[in-house]
Amino acid sequence: MVLDRINFLKDEINKYNYQYYVEDNPTIDDYTYDKLFAELKHLEEEHPELKTPDSPTQRVGSVSEKFFPYTHKHRLYSLDNTYNYEDLEIWYKKITEEYGDDVELVCELKIDGLAISLTYENGIFTTGVTRGDGVTGENITPNLKTVRAIPLKLFEDVDIEVRGEIYMPKTSFEKLNKESLEKGEKLFANPRNAAAGSIRQLDSTITAKRDLSIWVYASIMEEISNPPKTHYDSLMYLKKLGFKVNPNIKLCKNVYEAIEYCKEWENKRFNLDYATDGVVIKVNSLAIQNDMGFTARAPKWATAFKFPPEEVVTTLEDIEFGIGKTGAVTPVAILTPVLLAGSTVSRASLHNFDEIRRLDIRKGDKVLIKKAAEIIPKVIKVADTENRISKRHYSVPQKCPVCHSPLEMRDGEVNLYCSNPDCPAINKARLEFWVSKDAMDIDSVGPSIIQQLYDKKLVQSPVDFYKLTIADLMTLNLIKEKSAANIYNAIQGSKNRPLKRLITALIIKNVGKETADILANEYGTLENLMNASEADLAAINGIGEKMGKDIYEFFHNEKNIKMLNDLKAQGVEPPAVELPKSSLFKGKTLVITGTLSNMTRDEANELIKKYGGKASSSVSKNTSYLVVGLNPGSKFDKAQKLGVIILTEDEFLEMIKSEEKFPVVPD
Ligand code: NAD
Repeated sequence: MVLDRINFLKDEINKYNYQYYVEDNPTIDDYTYDKLFAELKHLEEEHPELKTPDSPTQRVGSVSEKFFPYTHKHRLYSLDNTYNYEDLEIWYKKITEEYGDDVELVCELKIDGLAISLTYENGIFTTGVTRGDGVTGENITPNLKTVRAIPLKLFEDVDIEVRGEIYMPKTSFEKLNKESLEKGEKLFANPRNAAAGSIRQLDSTITAKRDLSIWVYASIMEEISNPPKTHYDSLMYLKKLGFKVNPNIKLCKNVYEAIEYCKEWENKRFNLDYATDGVVIKVNSLAIQNDMGFTARAPKWATAFKFPPEEVVTTLEDIEFGIGKTGAVTPVAILTPVLLAGSTVSRASLHNFDEIRRLDIRKGDKVLIKKAAEIIPKVIKVADTENRISKRHYSVPQKCPVCHSPLEMRDGEVNLYCSNPDCPAINKARLEFWVSKDAMDIDSVGPSIIQQLYDKKLVQSPVDFYKLTIADLMTLNLIKEKSAANIYNAIQGSKNRPLKRLITALIIKNVGKETADILANEYGTLENLMNASEADLAAINGIGEKMGKDIYEFFHNEKNIKMLNDLKAQGVEPPAVELPKSSLFKGKTLVITGTLSNMTRDEANELIKKYGGKASSSVSKNTSYLVVGLNPGSKFDKAQKLGVIILTEDEFLEMIKSEEKFPVVPD
């Protein structure tokens, strides 16, 4: 019985290893794989007599026969991993029992890419090899030479072997998949597979076209005078040699500090442009590392804390059709609840009907879902196309699921829209948007209060929020005097929100919060904006003709003018925006990266706007300047690649200071 289960698990894991390591095409998610692996490990620990040398628990990875094999001079290992903090404490306790209470640890982000080893002789890059099975790897030197972040010559003439992780930035991965989709080519499941598939190409010119980079995290130094004594110092030395070492490393006094680091990065990781699947925690002292040594497949002095999965497989129970604030019908996947990136997910966005057709998902399908930077999870693909229950495709609905009016297509758009401007679902969605974080930010008014206010006909349009009395609010379910007063005060307190929020809340076609910000800074008051001509609007950097027309039409529509007047009569009046002091940055887009020493990032963005510029959060070919603080992120590499002008924080402040002396007068 146990033997059967062990054999079954071995076969399954070997099959998944092959798909993952050799074909770069996994068919199950890592979390499910790790659960199978942990079960096999546990069974082998309980029944050591059943453990065989060919078990996947005794080896790392696999090697493909596509490349020349290369025997590593020093073995490469995998890492033990856990998904819970208790295991980390147990691991640390064992270490402190042996080496005393103060064993320092280094925390590093676990980069979800492909492990490689790079050899340098006299400071010159000679050989680059994949980890393979740890003993033998694939020699991919020509491909690695195309990765610009890998130095071909170091700043010192040393003999050194370094280990690191090749990765593909998330934005490049998405771009690559978009291009592959357009060409009808195979898509990569995630950035890791895209990186592994790109670096393991037989033709280096293909690799050269892919945007790959590296983070280096370990080294073996021979015959070096004064070698570092700690892992942390060795990383600093690698940086000095010219390697890209991840800036988010942290030296921790004990495991509790390490756990704090893991908790911090569980959410922060979504802001990074590279995928991390956990945190690697290593003993800092190299002497202790040496003494502790390795198991058959992993170092004993390091362990990985894995984040809750970002991608999992679950079942599509049905598709529901929701109506958004613009009237667009959005299909939503209803899923069997599953744990994903730390929360239980039962719904996922399907964007539009083209997406349903593209994915060809059907009721009962096993689907792969993913949580990326955005909060709402997405359906990526059908995970198992061979064992499908239903043959029936989803058909496009003809009528609004709420008011049953016919649905209509609009020129050049993939979405379907409810044709009824008074559809209750649209009205409610617009009211929900009015109170949302990006708009008027009235956090005590949630969807259930809006539903009741709407059904009782107390609020039909945003103006009605401001007419509500405490007595009105007390007619709602479970709302007593105190909460009614709180809600009333929150609504009244929102009357003077900044202009950009009010513009966002109005739901003008194609105007999101960034455009609202541009408009607020350009016109300063709602009156000025309402009086702007179509040509003036179209001439603004970042607006253009199409949007200019939409904005103009919005402010010249009778119904909208009445609403704006009514809002004003209720006291909804944003304070005038301080218009730019000068045109120092007029027509320029600036991006900040890293930690600034003299101000927060928000303060810097305010300065940019005050001096007539546009503050953006991402680097593109339209970026004029990148202002670089301490520990810059991937924006720095991207800006360099695009030839964007880089400013230090001091240079940025210097420009402002000299502007104060000799202002460029706004025209
Ligand atoms: P791993 O990826 O869990 O951990 C070890 C690797 O972490 C190292 O080899 C190194 O490449 C990498 N790493 C990243 N950042 C690091 C850092 N800062 N310091 C040190 N190392 C760092 O182990 P593995 O052996 O490469 O792969 C096993 C894992 O791969 C499984 O746990 C599973 O999640 C996944 N896997 C999935 C499938 C599948 O079908 N879904 C199949 C096989 C493996």
